[in-house]
Amino acid sequence: MSHLTKEDIANLLEGSLSEFTQEQFETHLYSCDSCLETYMQQVHEKQGVLPILEDPHSFTDQIIAQVPVRSQKKKERHTTVLHYFLAAAATIFLMSSGVFHSIFAYTNQIDSHGAQSSQVTTSIIDKLFFYFDNISLKEER
Ligand SMILES: [Zn+2]
Repeated sequence: MSHLTKEDIANLLEGSLSEFTQEQFETHLYSCDSCLETYMQQVHEKQGVLPILEDPHSFTDQIIAQVPVRSQKKKERHTTVLHYFLAAAATIFLMSSGVFHSIFAYTNQIDSHGAQSSQVTTSIIDKLFFYFDNISLKEER
C-alpha cells in the first residue's frame, strides 16, 4: 500500500471513510512511522475542533452509571438453576434408592382401596418442593 496523503488522514480523522478503507489506513498507520507522524500532527492541529473532556472522572462515573446492573439478576437465575438441579438430583437419588417404588406401591394400594391416590402424590410433591424452597432460601442467606 502507498503512503497516506494528508487528505486521506483528514478523512480518517473525520470518520468519513468506508469501514474497509478505514481499516486499511489504520493498518498502514500501525506499520508506517512517517504516516503515523503525519497523522499525529494532524491530530494536534485538529484538537481545537474536537470536544475537550473537562472532567474525565465525572465522565467515567456517568458511563458507569449507565451500565445496566446485571449481577443481581444473574445471581437470581443461578439460584433458580441450582434449585432445579437439586430437585433433579434428588429425584434421581430417590428413584435409584427405591423410595419412589415404595411410594407408588403405597399409592397403588390406596388406589385399589378406591382412595384419592392423586392427592397423596400431590402432597408428596408439594412437600418435596417446600423442602427445596427452604434449602435455596438458606443458601441465599
Ligand atoms: Zn506510510
